[in-house]
Amino acid sequence: MAYCWPAGTVFTRINLDVEERSCPICDRAMYVCDHRYHHLWTLAGPTQVVNRLVRCPDPTCDSRGQTFSPEAELSISMPRWCMGWDVLCWLGHRRFARHWSVPQLRAELQDTYHIRLSDDALASSLGRYQTMLAARQQDPERLADDYREIASLVLTIDGLQPEKGHETLYVVRELRRKRVWFAEPLLSSATEEVQRVIALARQWAEHLAKPVGVWMSDKQDAFVKAIGTEFPHTPHRYCQNHFLRDLAKPVLELDSQAKVKMRRKVRGLRTIERRVLEQRRRTAALEPSPAPGPLQADETPRVAIPEAAAPEACARHNLGAGQTANAFGTPAWAVTGAPVVEDEAGEVVLGYCAAVRGILNDDQGGPLHPPGVRMSEALQEVRASLDRTLDAKKGGVPRRC
Ligand SMILES: [Zn+2]
Repeated sequence: MAYCWPAGTVFTRINLDVEERSCPICDRAMYVCDHRYHHLWTLAGPTQVVNRLVRCPDPTCDSRGQTFSPEAELSISMPRWCMGWDVLCWLGHRRFARHWSVPQLRAELQDTYHIRLSDDALASSLGRYQTMLAARQQDPERLADDYREIASLVLTIDGLQPEKGHETLYVVRELRRKRVWFAEPLLSSATEEVQRVIALARQWAEHLAKPVGVWMSDKQDAFVKAIGTEFPHTPHRYCQNHFLRDLAKPVLELDSQAKVKMRRKVRGLRTIERRVLEQRRRTAALEPSPAPGPLQADETPRVAIPEAAAPEACARHNLGAGQTANAFGTPAWAVTGAPVVEDEAGEVVLGYCAAVRGILNDDQGGPLHPPGVRMSEALQEVRASLDRTLDAKKGGVPRRC
């Protein structure tokens, strides 16, 4: 990876020497025969590593023709890399622990460390980081260390499709230590293919000399058969998550139908809003109001919306902050450009409309909190709020807003 350094780059120089200056064969003092220069980025900036290469002076020595280079070079970087280990670790950590994107990494390196690298260079470094990480994860000694205290293993297998059209990746995980053991891309989900993966898991378990207490997977035929063959005496449990997901399918279908029904029933928001705005325009035309000046910050809450009114119902249902801001942050008169008119009632009506629209557009919620149920509850609260407001108007005790 040749890196093109801009002209005039100032490098910090690091000189490196071999640890042992005497010849490993004849013990004579070796002499510096050449220098190898390595330019790279470290978090401290552009760095020039100067490796002083040595060889034995005795032409009859068996080490003749052999050049020795400083061992310490590898503690700074790999040969020919354009970045040091510190930059590589920084990248790997931000990418895989913090889930930063490559453009974000590039910008941050540039802003904070003045390191200029292309997206391609970053992507290939991240590939190396992943390879090293995988090798470390699968290192047998480390694995044995990690599992020393564990009495029995809980293994799972599942297929993941990283991208549409790609082969499925079969991932074997161990749940006691929460480790991904390995992943194999398989072209088919045929039992023989899957069995190969299960057999590999058996080898890992045997290598660790730990019994497999239980296997977990979904009910895919190949899993059931392959686990049955390779682990005839190990209980096989089906995954709760898959179970819940399958169970939820008909529930979510019904929920979706209920949502359609509610949306069909609660309609005409736009007609109501249009009527309010129309009314305002007419009022404005009849009585000339003061010229609409720029809106002052302290003017903004023109109308105190009753305590039980829409915004509260809206907030209570955790609508996205964006929706709420959209509904109430932008006054209707600002959008339509209509003249400023004192219209408290109209403002309350518009507030309710915005809240109801937010509720009808809210699609959040999984199988345990279906969106239709949330919608129904929210609409009921709006109705209760409307009833309270109407009761108050009929002569109830006026409440503090
Ligand atoms: Zn020698």
